[in-house]
Amino acid sequence: MTRVVVDADRCTGHGRCYSLAPDVFDADEVGHCVVLVEDVPGELESQAKTGEQNCPEEAITVSR
Ligand code: SF4
Repeated sequence: MTRVVVDADRCTGHGRCYSLAPDVFDADEVGHCVVLVEDVPGELESQAKTGEQNCPEEAITVSR
């Protein structure tokens, strides 16, 4: 199973994750990341990894 976790202490709200992977990530009221699906199904794995690779703060971790 693929899981995605966001470290809220590192997230500064650039919005790269939910712009590039809107089916996995969303924004809260101040633009910080909210994970929509923590247990990522296969069809969304590429979006989760895109978010991980494009977060400037390295706040996103995708693990198997
Ligand atoms: S790209 Fe990173 S820093 Fe920006 S909102 Fe997403 S998790 Fe937060």
